[in-house]
Amino acid sequence: METLSTLAYLVSSVCFIMALRGLSGPDTAQQGVTYGIAGMAIAIVTTLLNVESWGMIIWGVLIGGTIGTVIAKKIEMTALPQLVAAFHSLVGLAAVFVAAAAFFNPEAFGIGLVGDIHTSSLIELSLGLTIGAITFTGSVIAFGKLQGIVSGKPVSFPNQHAINAAIGGVILFLIFMLCTTQSAFFFWVLVLFAFVIGVLIIIPIGGADMPVIVSMLNSYSGWAAAGIGFTLQNNLLIITGALVGASGAILSYIMCKAMNRSFISVILGGFGGEEAGAAQDMGDRQAKIGSAEDAAFIMKNASKVIIVPGYGMAVAQAQHVVKELADTLKKEGVDVSYAIHPVAGRMPGHMNVLLAEANVPYEDVHELEDINRDFAQADVAYVIGANDITNPAAKNDSSSPIYGMPVLDVEKAKTVLFVKRSMGSGYAGIENPLFYADNTYMLLDDAKKMTENIVKAFE
Ligand code: NDP
Repeated sequence: METLSTLAYLVSSVCFIMALRGLSGPDTAQQGVTYGIAGMAIAIVTTLLNVESWGMIIWGVLIGGTIGTVIAKKIEMTALPQLVAAFHSLVGLAAVFVAAAAFFNPEAFGIGLVGDIHTSSLIELSLGLTIGAITFTGSVIAFGKLQGIVSGKPVSFPNQHAINAAIGGVILFLIFMLCTTQSAFFFWVLVLFAFVIGVLIIIPIGGADMPVIVSMLNSYSGWAAAGIGFTLQNNLLIITGALVGASGAILSYIMCKAMNRSFISVILGGFGGEEAGAAQDMGDRQAKIGSAEDAAFIMKNASKVIIVPGYGMAVAQAQHVVKELADTLKKEGVDVSYAIHPVAGRMPGHMNVLLAEANVPYEDVHELEDINRDFAQADVAYVIGANDITNPAAKNDSSSPIYGMPVLDVEKAKTVLFVKRSMGSGYAGIENPLFYADNTYMLLDDAKKMTENIVKAFE
């Protein structure tokens, strides 16, 4: 039975690897999901066949499954990042609970006796515990920031890095003490310090840098799961945790590159100490306000239009009408393409998912580095519900919190049409000087309503 289980776990691990491979491209994504489901089904069935009593498990699946289903059905697509952060926190907490169970009842886990736990198991347990506790509080703070409960602005205080480094040193000392003394006191103090450092790593990160944190916590939750795997001596959990941990780390690295941030400083919670929200002085500049009819007129006379979707398109669920607008323009002989910024919206790939849902052809959708040059030849940049990802302050204002982040060069288009509801700022909380540029028209309305009106104006 044990050999069969090991084989089944191996098959399910391979399925997970194939799932990740499939998910790396839109054409193979569905196949990837199928592999993921198959891997998870094999894992669950094998685990169930290996346990003696199903009572608690069935209750857990019923209660957890019901709560999860209700939340997943109710959740808005735009709130997914905070949901993911909340779920990560549960993985972290589970790692802490499993570590506590193993530490106080080691016999049940086959890792020794109380006060006489094998050293290797203690090391695994304390690492899993530490990563789990950091993931828990870090994810709770990230959830608060993304949900708007905790201020999104970076929280900094004097000697922040030195204090973080000192706490890191204390944690290493506590792990050593826990492994040598096996004292419950050191166990709980370690939990406490890991909780504290989880908070301290996330609070200095603010505004536009949050995407990196979401993927970083994803990675931490994977390592926490791998830690649980070691404690439970479950190879599948170790492999799956490592896959999540490694893929989350790779995603964080890609995001850091996209945002021009240093990977190491993010992992250590070291960036974001800048003052966010530094509103630029726009003086007496007046923005030009346009109407749907103006926009239709300008676009009808254009030969190249680039659509730049952002978070507001997701909020308004305007992707279908945007596709309708693009189709109308194409019929008029206009060349239409879409420019996707790597952190547009509120989760990696957010815009790609929405556009795919609206059946926008993949070949019309281009990443920042592929399309940025084209804005100079475009007649119109139709910016729909996007803000930070177009902000030129990232290029020319070194005091800006988003300075250094690559942005879409929409201002190079002959005319910029900005669809949003107000002159307010985006996620990073900073003003966008582009609203007041000579070639910008602000189309102030809900993204879906405005785009519908433009399509009507064409008719
Ligand atoms: P922004 O948050 O910068 O701007 C979105 C704009 O959409 C707002 O200014 C808002 O203006 C407008 N808007 C909101 N609702 C509507 C609506 N119904 N109709 C029309 N407009 C609307 O979004 P971007 O996509 O430009 O940039 C993403 C930001 O989110 C970046 O700062 C990024 O770092 C951050 N982020 C990204 C994550 C990711 O993984 N992609 C995760 C976490 C954060 P108004 O209120 O005036 O309408």
